[in-house]
Amino acid sequence: MNSNPDVLIIGGGLAGLCCALQLHKSGFSFQVLEASDGIGGRVRTDKVEGFLLDRGFQVLLTAYPEARRVLDYDALRLSPFYPGALIRHKNHFYRFADPWRHPIDGLLGFFTPVGSFSDKLRVRKLRSRVLRGSLSDLYNRPETTTLQALRNTGFSEDMIDCFFRPFIGGVFFDPTLGVSSRMFEFGFRMFSMGDTALPSGGMGAIPDQIAARLPEGTVRTEARVESIQEGGVTLRSGEKIKARAVVVATEGPEAARLLGDKEKPGSRSVTCLYFETADPPFSEPLLVLNGEGKGPINSLCFPSSVALSYAPKGKSLVSVTIIGNPDQGDQQLESAVRAQLKEWFGRRADGWRYLRTYRILHALPMQAPPVSDPTSRPHQIRPGLFISGEYQNVASIQWAMVSGRRAAEAVIDWLQK
Ligand SMILES: Cc1cc2nc3c(=O)[nH]c(=O)nc-3n(C[C@H](O)[C@H](O)[C@H](O)COP(=O)(O)OP(=O)(O)OC[C@H]3O[C@@H](n4cnc5c(N)ncnc54)[C@H](O)[C@@H]3O)c2cc1C
Repeated sequence: MNSNPDVLIIGGGLAGLCCALQLHKSGFSFQVLEASDGIGGRVRTDKVEGFLLDRGFQVLLTAYPEARRVLDYDALRLSPFYPGALIRHKNHFYRFADPWRHPIDGLLGFFTPVGSFSDKLRVRKLRSRVLRGSLSDLYNRPETTTLQALRNTGFSEDMIDCFFRPFIGGVFFDPTLGVSSRMFEFGFRMFSMGDTALPSGGMGAIPDQIAARLPEGTVRTEARVESIQEGGVTLRSGEKIKARAVVVATEGPEAARLLGDKEKPGSRSVTCLYFETADPPFSEPLLVLNGEGKGPINSLCFPSSVALSYAPKGKSLVSVTIIGNPDQGDQQLESAVRAQLKEWFGRRADGWRYLRTYRILHALPMQAPPVSDPTSRPHQIRPGLFISGEYQNVASIQWAMVSGRRAAEAVIDWLQK
């Protein structure tokens, strides 16, 4: 461990690790200080009784340009979801396919009662709009809320409620669709351009792969930073560590605390319940969306139908996502979820064994307008102090990784002056 590094990075999530990787490549010494007992931040996986439980259901969109640049996809052994979804609507499940990748299913989808015929044609219009230009162009287009953008595109309220609300609401943990249209278009572009995938080792394999490229001893866990001073930091334990530069790579509310910002950014929460079953209702790698607008469940899937490694042999993993942090205790919540599962899948859901609940209070920042181009933001706060991560309201695996690299580049520029 280098006790006098050039740079201290506060936070061992994807932003902090990508910052560390860039500093390492450029020959600067650094120390990552991570408060919790492991790296990865919001991208972590627990191994429980042979199951891989991601801390909240999440996926890697393989089209993320920064992930493609940094990660070794082959080594992650990615398995894709079916490009589309199964939508629960009026007591039935309907398949909604990406017609560009599943033309026959896509065509059949035209005859489902989810949205009108014109709605399905409008998806084509939306797709061509989000694929046009560069990512920076997209972040410089006129901005409104996602709901307003969908209405402006002409989508019916039925299509918005049955498909976009559970789908996009589930991506940004915002069923009101108040999230910036720029974030929505970015997400829709990434879904359209690549696979939605899970690594065979769980989502936590992503930060693990980055951390494995850092020199030994450069990441320190259970090292919570209490405060930042000029030329260093103080840990909660009272220990002081000096460095020429400090990078804050924590989640937004903690970054605001450390930087002494008066205004705390808001948070979107999510809750994820896991069950085990030997009897899944289908074996395809499908995401199921609640298009009925009632009941606690927003979406669910069987991760082991996507990547077999998520469950021990002969068993399947069920992952249920609820937007927000419900007031009920875990037991009451489990009962409410099970009641809805029984409504959807019949009595077989009685036998699904409950495994665990994750409540993630700060899952994402609000990401409501205004959201600016994440590649044009300054990372320096003052001489020697830098910020990365979701500061300024933009999150995702892509932008966490970009912000880490860009913060490191800003630090290097400053150190070399
Ligand atoms: C359930 C869930 C699902 C998601 N789904 C997706 C998805 O499908 N696709 C996608 O692209 N994105 C998704 N996201 C968002 C994505 O995971 C995050 O935007 C991204 O991982 C944030 O990385 P980060 O490094 O900026 O922050 P974090 O991962 O939050 O890392 C910050 C780190 O700082 C540490 N820390 C905090 N305070 C201190 C302190 N005082 N001292 C030292 N360390 C500290 C924390 O412990 C943490 O490890 C999801 C997030 C959640 C929670």
